[in-house]
Amino acid sequence: MRSPIDVVVAGGGFAGVAAAARLARRSKLNVTLLDPKAACEMLPLLPDIAGRRLTSAAGQTSHRAIAARHGYRYIQHAALELDRAARRLTTTEHRALPYDFLLLAHGGHAAFYGNESAERHAIPLRTLADALRVRRSVSAAAQRAFLVVGGGYTGIELATHVHRACALCARGAPRGARSREGTTAPATAGSPSPRVIIVEAADEILGMQEPWMRRWALTHLKQLGIEVRTGTTVQTVEPGAATLSDGRRLTETTTLWTAGMRVHPIPGSPAANGRLAVDEHLQLGDGVFVAGDAAAFTHKGALLPPASYIAVQQGRRAAQNIERAAAGRPLLPYRPLLHGFVIPVAGGSGCGRIHGLPLTGRPAAAVHYSAAAARAHSFAQRCAILRDLARSPS
Ligand SMILES: Cc1cc2nc3c(=O)[nH]c(=O)nc-3n(C[C@H](O)[C@H](O)[C@H](O)COP(=O)(O)OP(=O)(O)OC[C@H]3O[C@@H](n4cnc5c(N)ncnc54)[C@H](O)[C@@H]3O)c2cc1C
Repeated sequence: MRSPIDVVVAGGGFAGVAAAARLARRSKLNVTLLDPKAACEMLPLLPDIAGRRLTSAAGQTSHRAIAARHGYRYIQHAALELDRAARRLTTTEHRALPYDFLLLAHGGHAAFYGNESAERHAIPLRTLADALRVRRSVSAAAQRAFLVVGGGYTGIELATHVHRACALCARGAPRGARSREGTTAPATAGSPSPRVIIVEAADEILGMQEPWMRRWALTHLKQLGIEVRTGTTVQTVEPGAATLSDGRRLTETTTLWTAGMRVHPIPGSPAANGRLAVDEHLQLGDGVFVAGDAAAFTHKGALLPPASYIAVQQGRRAAQNIERAAAGRPLLPYRPLLHGFVIPVAGGSGCGRIHGLPLTGRPAAAVHYSAAAARAHSFAQRCAILRDLARSPS
């Protein structure tokens, strides 16, 4: 092995930053983190940003600032190609980065399952830029309806935020994050609020969650007047229109896509389109480790779901194993600590189960926002989250 030992971390989300920070702090390894984005974005707050409850400052911290604080090198490139035999990663700017150990933590992007019209015209929710696009479409809203594709927790959360933002616009109340970010008055002030419709291909929403959570969410959506159509898919999406599998065509409609995730492909990593199957040490082999949404980790016969706290745990354990491998010590297995899950909804409410305890209403929302504030990467970001929550009507 060369000296000093080079570690490259591809992806600066929850997993990548947790790993790079630990490696830079606790080891003598040379750590470089690659991410095409200039800032580390907090995905769990995107629905709030889309719905104007939070400003974009609450959802990001610059990678340069994080890297300077922890003491690793940051390069604003994406990993383009991996040569595992040569232990070399090539970036989008054609820079070849030799490594002794590589951590793939490059997360996922929206999966459109071959629906090209949706890929072209629907708005996904995977980045801050996506959230701001949704926000602009709500503010512009000459639309009569918002169609949210996907009845998982992101779809439900987003639908409630869009509904709330539209209602505020219709009441002519441009309060909350958007007004403070200097955009113009809502186009819809005084007009009726657009419909919000969720379509879900399966027979029920929140298929993976406990039945009581499904019931809670359905009741909440019904009270808000958000329509839910299960057993329905979107056939085609056009600018301002969508056609459903039941033949209905919705006009003056913006389509928002939350229906799935697939891993960013990096040629040379084994499963180009899916999550990468790792062993109990989070290894692919040949000095390559994987953490976060990019990793397919099986626990008690099922794949772990994508979740920010799991990404952080895996990032830290992968970093620890890289340190141990560099020192010739045996690796440690990753044993997930599953805390549970909250499905937050707009208006400071939600439902979920944390450490076995069922939560509904404000306590559920409090858990969600406290976890986000705790995981913020800078004091400024944490202050922005708390300030926006305090100022915004819930
Ligand atoms: C809208 C939404 C809401 C969510 N809400 C919750 C929630 O309430 N609770 C919860 O626990 N989880 C939630 N999640 C899931 C959670 O955000 C993810 O599980 C978590 O972000 C995964 O972390 P990660 O580090 O693996 O990937 P990410 O956070 O996605 O980070 C991956 C990084 O890799 C970068 N990247 C991509 N391609 C490359 C490349 N080729 N080279 C280098 N870098 C690359 C990306 O720019 C990105 O910065 C939500 C997700 C979304 C989309």
